[in-house]
Amino acid sequence: MGAVVSVLLVVFDGLRPDMIRGETTPNLMRFAAMATSMPRARSVFPSETRVCTSSIATGCYPRRHGLVANRMPHPTRPERFVDTGNALALREMEQEIGGPTLLVPGLSDLLAGAHQDFAVFSSGTTGQCRLLAPNADTHGQMVISAHGPQHCSAAGRQLLSRLEPAPVEPAARAVWIADAWRTTMLAAPPAASVLWLCEPDTAAHYQGLDSPGQRAALMAADAAFGRLLDDWQAGVQHDQLQIIVASDHGHVTVDGLVPAQAMMAESPVFAGCGIGGGGIVVPDGDRVRIAEIARFLMRQDWVASVFTPDLGDIAAGTLPHSVVMLDHPRTAHVLYTLRNTAKSAPSGLVGTTLLDSAMKLGVGAGWHGGLNSGELSTVLMLAGSKIRSGVSSDWPAGLVDIAPTILALLGLLGDEAMDGRVIGEALLDGQEPSCSRSPETWEASGEFYAQRVARTRVGRHVWIERGERI
Ligand SMILES: [Zn+2]
Repeated sequence: MGAVVSVLLVVFDGLRPDMIRGETTPNLMRFAAMATSMPRARSVFPSETRVCTSSIATGCYPRRHGLVANRMPHPTRPERFVDTGNALALREMEQEIGGPTLLVPGLSDLLAGAHQDFAVFSSGTTGQCRLLAPNADTHGQMVISAHGPQHCSAAGRQLLSRLEPAPVEPAARAVWIADAWRTTMLAAPPAASVLWLCEPDTAAHYQGLDSPGQRAALMAADAAFGRLLDDWQAGVQHDQLQIIVASDHGHVTVDGLVPAQAMMAESPVFAGCGIGGGGIVVPDGDRVRIAEIARFLMRQDWVASVFTPDLGDIAAGTLPHSVVMLDHPRTAHVLYTLRNTAKSAPSGLVGTTLLDSAMKLGVGAGWHGGLNSGELSTVLMLAGSKIRSGVSSDWPAGLVDIAPTILALLGLLGDEAMDGRVIGEALLDGQEPSCSRSPETWEASGEFYAQRVARTRVGRHVWIERGERI
């Protein structure tokens, strides 16, 4: 017997809300007109895809799910970094630490526990796909990765063998995965599905933010989404299936390069440290060295935010990891972001950043990972028979609210254990939050340096608005 209600989450990786436009994304425009939109939706920090994926899957911030960076310090050998985009590297790490990557259950586990089916279709990296359903085979769930059968679940491999082979080019792969979900799942959708499109993110990085190449990739993904919408609206599943459209983070435009990691590697201040993924791992977590490194970073004009562990006054000017919900033993001791602005790029999109030249991208490329408003602003819209239509909610929301809201739509409990809230004001049978919202500002200053992080709170729920050097 099929579920009474089912939910499809469609993620457009890296889509900025202001890139939803009539010329390039007519189908997202069409969806927005029938949806409840959350224009204040926020990503998490670091605003990197696998951190975001884990927050979407678990409804928790990295301080609880434990995937603290795209390139994450190895939990038991912190001098090494793990490429979380590589499913094999994640598996290897799990064997080495004798435990899971994600430290709280995700939608995959929660739905299995409730005897509801769950499916993942992803054209993202193999690691990204795995984080959405790490125990898919145990649960008998359908996982299709566009990167081939070895990254699908057993059920996914069976289905994959009946599909045309996935193309190699990223935009074509995003279209392929969207068409695969539509043609194989829509007629009898699982209780919950995640359809993850790797565009417009890949094109933003490699072809430039708002470049003709990125717009073409976005148009192709939007057209594939439009076919899904057409079939949903025309089909018998229309009253059953609720659709949530989201992005995991935004993008800002690279306006300059700085050899940050190379400079650190050459400086005696960083001797013996692990450097990578926007963080520095200090041998034995020596607090004197943490302070020395933080002070070095705060003296650089290419550095924006600097965070250190919650150990009291480490160095004047730094803010503790907990301010950005990253206080976790796996987090690198010192975290930094690169200087960024709220200025417009030549494309007209607001938000620019310096980029580490080690990343091998040029000026004009799209980038994310930091605390700029352009990186933290995400798309979040919901539509369906259980959801209010044509509404824009002024309440704060974000990635962590997606999982609780999916559970609520399915009539399942579990959201109390999550950091996020049920987006009640979007639901026909739901309500606005009962607490008022309050802005929170964290500031710290040292001799030549000051920074600020702005958050919004509603009851026990918190979202990061932005972080900046001041
Ligand atoms: Zn992403």
